[in-house]
Amino acid sequence: MAYDDQNIFAKILREEIPCNKIYEDNYVLSFYDINPQKKIHALVIPKGKYIDLDDFNKNASNEEIAGLIKGISIVAKKLGISTENGKGYRALANISEDGGQEVPHLHFHIFGGEKIGKMVS
Ligand code: 5GP
Repeated sequence: MAYDDQNIFAKILREEIPCNKIYEDNYVLSFYDINPQKKIHALVIPKGKYIDLDDFNKNASNEEIAGLIKGISIVAKKLGISTENGKGYRALANISEDGGQEVPHLHFHIFGGEKIGKMVS
């Protein structure tokens, strides 16, 4: 499957549609989920065009991979929910249809601000 340039996160990256931005650097953009499932629900996405985690790990550079993984901790700290803040959170990526992925641009969900509870329902 080819990357779809018209997916909603591609449009957010191109600033064609707005987002409630939390953090940005050379590798990632982070913003609040439009339909929060927990008290804090953020998204962290790579700036490159990657459909899902498998596509990312196959095709992204080591710098991009490190940038995304580090970006998750940076965002959690910025949100005040990292272990450095004495808190915790859940980072979760849905991968393809069986994984429940709806937007075909790799993204990690960051859930926090309360007890997140059961891992899978
Ligand atoms: P997925 O099911 O693909 O893992 O998650 C996609 C997420 O993107 C959902 O949690 C959904 O609420 C969020 N989302 C969809 N459209 C938009 C949008 O236009 N803006 C933002 N901020 N989040 C969106």
